[in-house]
Amino acid sequence: MITLQEKAKLIKSGKLSAEKNVSDFGEKIQKLNKELNIYLSLNTHAIEQAKEIDKRIKEKKEVGKLAGLCVAVKSNISVKDLEANCASKVLEGYISGYDASVIEKLKNEDVIILGMVNMDEFACGASGETSAFGPVKNPRNKELIPGGSSAGSAAAVAAELCDFALGSDTGGSIRNPASHCGIVGLKPSYGSVSRYGLIDLSMSLDQIGPLTNSVEDSEFIFNIIKGQDNFDATSQNPLELKPKKGLTIGLLDVRDFGDKRIEDLITKKTEEVCKRNKWEIKKVNLPLDIVLQTYYILVYVEFFSATRKFDGRRYGLKIDEEAGHEVLRRIFGGSEISKAEYHGKYYRSALKARALIKKQFEKIFEDVDAIVLPTVPRLAHKIGEKISVKDMYAYDVFTIPANLSGVCGISIPAGTIDKKQVGLQILAPRFYEELLFNISKKFE
Ligand code: GLN
Repeated sequence: MITLQEKAKLIKSGKLSAEKNVSDFGEKIQKLNKELNIYLSLNTHAIEQAKEIDKRIKEKKEVGKLAGLCVAVKSNISVKDLEANCASKVLEGYISGYDASVIEKLKNEDVIILGMVNMDEFACGASGETSAFGPVKNPRNKELIPGGSSAGSAAAVAAELCDFALGSDTGGSIRNPASHCGIVGLKPSYGSVSRYGLIDLSMSLDQIGPLTNSVEDSEFIFNIIKGQDNFDATSQNPLELKPKKGLTIGLLDVRDFGDKRIEDLITKKTEEVCKRNKWEIKKVNLPLDIVLQTYYILVYVEFFSATRKFDGRRYGLKIDEEAGHEVLRRIFGGSEISKAEYHGKYYRSALKARALIKKQFEKIFEDVDAIVLPTVPRLAHKIGEKISVKDMYAYDVFTIPANLSGVCGISIPAGTIDKKQVGLQILAPRFYEELLFNISKKFE
């Protein structure tokens, strides 16, 4: 498939007009969206904006790196004048008054926003089924979940309804749907990309990142959206690295945490790639048995706190009355855990566990350059299939560690089992995205 940079070149040279790029996607969206349920709203000015870009190109005026390329945006990222409803009735009709910093950076490069896409309600979910506007379908097999919560973002890329998409990842929400849809999803290091303009799920874990067709595209977009931003005090510039030759890859011991067939596929692929590149492999261990409990205490409490502003006065409806089950579970759970009489007992324990996991990562990265593991522990289930809360939460057992520790992670397609897509995940130390991309290209 053509890369983003190649397509941008075609547009700049006049061989493909930005207008045609937009209208081609528009036609496909008309045809497929009803069934796949990906776009919640479209940018009605897209064609006009494309024409403007074509005009500037004709006049030989300077245009940005993304001139005429089309992006789909998850509905929890603010785009001025478009609806950021978080796929919830609570915020239905809420129009953003400003651009998130990532959107501003993309617009500075002349991107065209195609529209806002579906997701799990308030990013709470792992399957793409908790949206108040109905589930997103997996374009590779419409009976299956696309994964979540950035379900629409991954499905939009897989169905070729955009050039690339933006999602957010709190515990796996970019990597998980990328894995189920057979595309590439990057969760940048905590702080590599500004969160300004993202509607929080859990502010100490959330990151915005790209969903793309290839690692090269992912790197291209990351390099545009990355970096220090005055509106997000946690943001900083990633590190620039000296190239390294002989690498050591840590293969995570996933014990009994997932489908053995997925584990075998990932191991085989890792051995192949390491052999070909003359890299060493070492077995590494993470305390996987505590990641879900740690994560959900932090998320419940931070989400409860973040949602107090949705009290029906300033934005939309009262969340405690209008949201779906999964959102309410977290709000009521979070309010319980953070009750004064517990003196922060649970939250503090979770912070301690989080520190432990972070330490373990630091120790591992003294020995290895990157860690390889499956993205999700099981194959995609059928949409609507009854699956317990515990099993739904367990979908992210392999992706959550990166959020708890702040390291960067990527999911790339590794093949299929039973005709279902399987993703391979690679993790690198915090702010080492460049290394992550270099290693990922060898696995791709
Ligand atoms: N599935 C996880 C959750 O429900 C992750 C969500 C996310 O990364 N936004 O919290």
